[in-house]
Amino acid sequence: MLSEKQNNGPAILHTLKNVFGFQTFLPNQEFIINRILNKQDVFAVMPTGGGKSLCYQLPAQMQHGTAVIISPLISLMKDQVDTALENGIPAAFMNSSLNTQEIADVYRMMKYNKIKLLYIAPERFAMPYFMGTLTTIPISLFAIDEAHCISEWGHDFRPDYLSLSLIPKMFPDIPIAAFTATATQRVQEDIINKIGLRSPNIIRASFNRPNLFYQVKRKSKVDLQILEFLREHPGEFGIIYRTTRDSVMDTANFLVSRGIIALPYHAGLTTEERNKNQDAFNRDEASVIVATIAFGMGIDKSNIRFVIHADLPKNIESYYQETGRAGRDGEPALCMLFFSRGDIPKIRYFIDQMTDEKERSIAMEKVNQMVGFAEHNVCRRKKLLNFFGEDYPLDNCGACDICSGDVEQIDITIDAQIVMSAISRTQQRFGTGYIIDIVTGADTKRICDLRHNEIKTYGAGKHKDKKYWRFLVDELLAQGAIQVDGDRYPVLKLAEKGLDVLYGKEKITALKREEKIKTKKQTMRSSEYSDYDENLFERLRVIRKNLAEEQQVPPFVIFSDKTLHEMCRYYPVSLSDMRKISGIGNAKLDRYGEYFIGEIQSYLNDNPAISFADRQSANKTIRIPPRPPLVKGGRGDFKISETVEKTYELYKKGFSIGHIAKQRNLTQSTIAGHLERLIQNGYDIDIDRFIDRLKRHKIEELFLKLQDWNLSPVIEHFSGTVSYEEARLVRAFLLRRTSE
Ligand code: ADP
Ligand code: ZN
Repeated sequence: MLSEKQNNGPAILHTLKNVFGFQTFLPNQEFIINRILNKQDVFAVMPTGGGKSLCYQLPAQMQHGTAVIISPLISLMKDQVDTALENGIPAAFMNSSLNTQEIADVYRMMKYNKIKLLYIAPERFAMPYFMGTLTTIPISLFAIDEAHCISEWGHDFRPDYLSLSLIPKMFPDIPIAAFTATATQRVQEDIINKIGLRSPNIIRASFNRPNLFYQVKRKSKVDLQILEFLREHPGEFGIIYRTTRDSVMDTANFLVSRGIIALPYHAGLTTEERNKNQDAFNRDEASVIVATIAFGMGIDKSNIRFVIHADLPKNIESYYQETGRAGRDGEPALCMLFFSRGDIPKIRYFIDQMTDEKERSIAMEKVNQMVGFAEHNVCRRKKLLNFFGEDYPLDNCGACDICSGDVEQIDITIDAQIVMSAISRTQQRFGTGYIIDIVTGADTKRICDLRHNEIKTYGAGKHKDKKYWRFLVDELLAQGAIQVDGDRYPVLKLAEKGLDVLYGKEKITALKREEKIKTKKQTMRSSEYSDYDENLFERLRVIRKNLAEEQQVPPFVIFSDKTLHEMCRYYPVSLSDMRKISGIGNAKLDRYGEYFIGEIQSYLNDNPAISFADRQSANKTIRIPPRPPLVKGGRGDFKISETVEKTYELYKKGFSIGHIAKQRNLTQSTIAGHLERLIQNGYDIDIDRFIDRLKRHKIEELFLKLQDWNLSPVIEHFSGTVSYEEARLVRAFLLRRTSE
């Protein structure tokens, strides 16, 4: 007897490669696809960029019949259909933007079983003719996008979604897969109940977005800061978020006056203006869109390389969601927050308008969490993930300003005492500017009038400039040693912690950070984030743009940035090499392969210095992924600190990782980090002592196959049988071997 579950493995991989052009799955995709093919329901929470569409498009393509995809955003349907068509999957959408004739055409195609993917808005389910038609044609699956819209507990409730509960009743044998990027436990249960999913497989993916780099900078003259940022990132596309319509217009106008193609987007513009600006941005015709948070819901542009917050977001959820629009294609993208405490009263003003006291205090608490995110010297990624109840296991994420900056602890006790004594000796009645004037010994009339030039601290800090003292005051505020009081005339006051420092009972330190923005390539660390030939990229981008115009689709629908970057790394000049590039399936290869090969060939002819060796790598079946920066310089680049030495001593005595951790009162992951460092530095560490040989080979193989040095995919692949510590040590050894 045939088992009910089939082995779809080879066919799935074949489709993945030939239709979508990918070699491997992103986390959870394979699991979800298998469940759908086995006719089970699925509920999946996956972050933006997690690759949700492939989860239903792939099984739809493999099966007989039509997959019905319910999506709330009409504006996105066309792009999704275009993307599928580009991959050679017959797809169509049906929504209120079509006229009667067009709708009739879609019905005809449905009846002749000519559509694999049918995108519809939820209100179709209330239409008897549509439902009637569905019952007469073969259906492969139902996919519900943005499934949280069915829940009144969610932030995006749409009553039309309630009609989706008809699906399991009318189609008891067809699997339903529901997807969302945001769902608390409560919303999750609500979604499952409201739709009526039948014992669904529940997937909650990590919310980590490894390709996003998080950075916070002190805000001052933010328009100029933005301009400087844009000048450092020429040719990249991004979103700048501001809080009010006026500030949106001011920033957009300022940037335009400096020669940047910037378009505004806010609720005060007409629908036509908004659509026009969004379209231009989608088509790569504007470098930036300056927007209020009204912008973003209807956008799936995958090549957004940065998101700038020029004002303080009102809470961490919004910040995560807005920054999440960057880097959907998996390529590196930067999230920059310009932060000033001066923004807090502005948000508080809005919050004060709320009538419900409880809501008001929750909103204020959320602002404080956001401020904490910006001010604390803790890995930003760790902080974000913790906020969503997720534990981030690495000590150093390698992709936030805290983790990658050249941080150094400095003792600021004496300078802190100078500032606090100035505050105290002036009876805590003055603001930052005045206190700094006292500390630096400024000769102002006000100081003379109030005879503050006679107090002991006057001029005690004149050996350092005002900028330094401003930093120091910010730091003391951030650490809660002092606080600001009064909205209208804010004055500095001492907090309890500050008193301890002032009276010499406690020391206070600060992290000295390099303020310079590094380029993403210097900061990101995974394989995909390595160098590519930027000159070639510029040329290929032009081809992509021209083809997109011809096809009347946005450029990212033709090829993602990731696909172009790969071409610019491996210089494919034959169809068989081109096939190996990620994101190129058969349909795109046929349609566009020659154009890009022609351009690459002509570029190589123009640049004979690009050697054969540079291009060789494209032909290897297994590529060794480029090394992450942490081992870039090879052995001996890192100083071995005292704490690592201690671990080494214990290692030499034959202790296990667990034992060393216990003895030193550190975590196992820290000890593994020490061993990793020792391995990188060429110390003689015997890995056999920590991991079984066969297991080690399997892990090595997987690293090479995935072409990715990140640990999470490996851990996930072995579903719990390989620990972080093990994967980390194997990686360190493999890197050392391949660098020898
Ligand atoms: P989501 O809807 O979850 O935000 P998408 O379905 O838009 O994500 O996919 C995000 C990006 O990842 C797209 O550019 C898509 O082509 C790419 N992608 C999807 N699956 C894979 C895969 N298996 N390998 C590489 N890239 C993938
Ligand atoms: Zn970090």
